[in-house]
Parts: sequence; C-alpha cells; structure tokens
Amino acid sequence: MLKLVMNSCVSFILIMLAACGMTNEHNKMDHSYNQDHEATEVSEVAVDSLSVELKNTKGEKVGIAALTEEKNGVRIKLQAEGLAPGRHGFHIHEIGKCEQPDFKTAGEHYNPFSREHGFKNPKGPHAGDLPNIEVDANGKASVETFASLVTLQQGKPNSLLDVDGSAVIIHEQADDYKTNPAGNSGDRIACGVVAK
Ligand code: ZN
Repeated sequence: MLKLVMNSCVSFILIMLAACGMTNEHNKMDHSYNQDHEATEVSEVAVDSLSVELKNTKGEKVGIAALTEEKNGVRIKLQAEGLAPGRHGFHIHEIGKCEQPDFKTAGEHYNPFSREHGFKNPKGPHAGDLPNIEVDANGKASVETFASLVTLQQGKPNSLLDVDGSAVIIHEQADDYKTNPAGNSGDRIACGVVAK
C-alpha cells in the first residue's frame, strides 16, 4: 500500500514537473515574440531632429549642434564659443562616448562604408567627415553643414543612432582632407554625444 502511494506521488510530481516545463517553454516563446515585436517598432520610429551638447576637455559646455534628418542626409547646425580662433577639424565619430580628458572613447571617424579619410582622398571619405569650421576672433563659430552619407533613421547601416551611438567632435587643428585616418587635425577639443 505504502509503495503504491509513493508511486502515485512520484507520478504526480513528474506530471507537475512536465507541466511546469511546458509553461516555461510557452513563456519563453511569448517573451521572444515580444522582443522581436518591440525591436521592429523601435526601428520604425522616425527621429527627425536632435540636439547635441558639446563640451570641452574640462567638461565646460562650448556648443550645441542641431542635427536634422533630410531627404539625402543630415543637416548639422553648429553654434559654438570659447574656442581658439581659426580653422578646426569637425567630424562625426563612431562611438557615442565623450570621456575626458581626450575623448578617445569616441573612437575613430564614423566609417560604415569602410573608406579612408578625407574628401581629397581617392579612397575617401569617411561618412563622418565634415568640412572644417571657422572660429572667429571672439572664439565663436556659427556653421551649417550637410552630411550626405549618414542618417538618423535607426536600423540603417549608416545610422548615427546605431547600437553604440556616435559623437560630434571638434579638433584642435584644421583637417587637411586627405591624411588617413584623421586629416592631421590634432587633439580632440570638444565632444558631444549623438543620442535620442
Ligand atoms: Zn575621416
């Protein structure tokens, strides 16, 4: 009799375990479905414009870049101050991380198409290459430029809003538009994270 009861108990426990297993499997399937569904929704969200705050190596705010999605690229309007007068390299870098003191965390120029640096380089340019900016005698710059090789649309191979984001950087010196990988533009003096 005791043996029979024990057998029944074991059978009951086995059935319960099996049921639990099925439930877990079912939950997992639901979960992955939801994740896929959310991912699809995110990639369809249109980001039309965003504002990027640039800081210098001391962490002081020195400018704002307004990025706007247009038909064939991204328009960038930069207002900056507190910079050394003259021409400075201006680029979009591959990682949205601006850590002091040198902003090396932003990585190299944004380059989803595996090109070399520079508008004058036959193997260039990087998608993140932009024209030099001109800073006036008062240390101010007001610049409008257009990046035709990038987009703010998520899910595209050349999106600035990819998994690790991207960064807008002003360099110490002018970009010569031809020397790989950064146009001999010297140190990074201001950096801003491109994020939603
Ligand atoms: Zn470049």
